[in-house]
Amino acid sequence: MPSNPAPAEALRKACRDARPPALARIAASATLPSEFGAFRIHVFNNDRDSEEHVALVHGDVAGGQDVPTRVHSECLTGDVLGSLRCDCRAQLARALERIAREPRGIVLYLRQEGRGIGLTNKIRAYELQERGCDTVDANLALGFAADERDYGAAAGMLRALGVQSIALMTNNPDKLEKLAAEGIRVTSRIAHEIEPNLHNRFYLATKARRSGHYIGLNAPRSDGTDEVSRGPR
Ligand SMILES: [Zn+2]
Repeated sequence: MPSNPAPAEALRKACRDARPPALARIAASATLPSEFGAFRIHVFNNDRDSEEHVALVHGDVAGGQDVPTRVHSECLTGDVLGSLRCDCRAQLARALERIAREPRGIVLYLRQEGRGIGLTNKIRAYELQERGCDTVDANLALGFAADERDYGAAAGMLRALGVQSIALMTNNPDKLEKLAAEGIRVTSRIAHEIEPNLHNRFYLATKARRSGHYIGLNAPRSDGTDEVSRGPR
């Protein structure tokens, strides 16, 4: 007999699988010229949560196959404040730049701060990290899963935009699986790696080692704390 997942995780998965497909609808739209290129911004309502999730759309995506898509989760400290603890801002900027160069593409900006645990808990996790926990253990110590993000709203948004299938820009195998589980056809993965800096090497190493992210850290070690194998494990 294969070993079963922990009961709480199994229950969570059963509940996820039993849910009807998420619905989302555009509540407001406008053009959004940006330093990265021309986008249209759509703000959505959805039936999974009460957040104002955003889609930045470049070109005509309705009916599109293999539409280059980045699904980004909000990170106030990184995206807005320029924190070097993570690579969120660099990933977001890289995605917007790349998609603006394509004939069409989508960046979903999901309002699920701190991998879904919210800003307060994310900063609590940083406190624990200052005492030596890695990013996964800090989440577990606070009573959360390593990643609490939900991609139902994202799936609903992609359906509302009329997308047939996507090429997902990600290093995160969990994101591929969760979007597929929400009914999205992901036809390929576009690698989306950012060079580490002195501060986020350990964070990125933890992502690779403990969360299975496809990251190859090839810069010289800064502090000897990270030990990374290339690619998925
Ligand atoms: Zn971040």
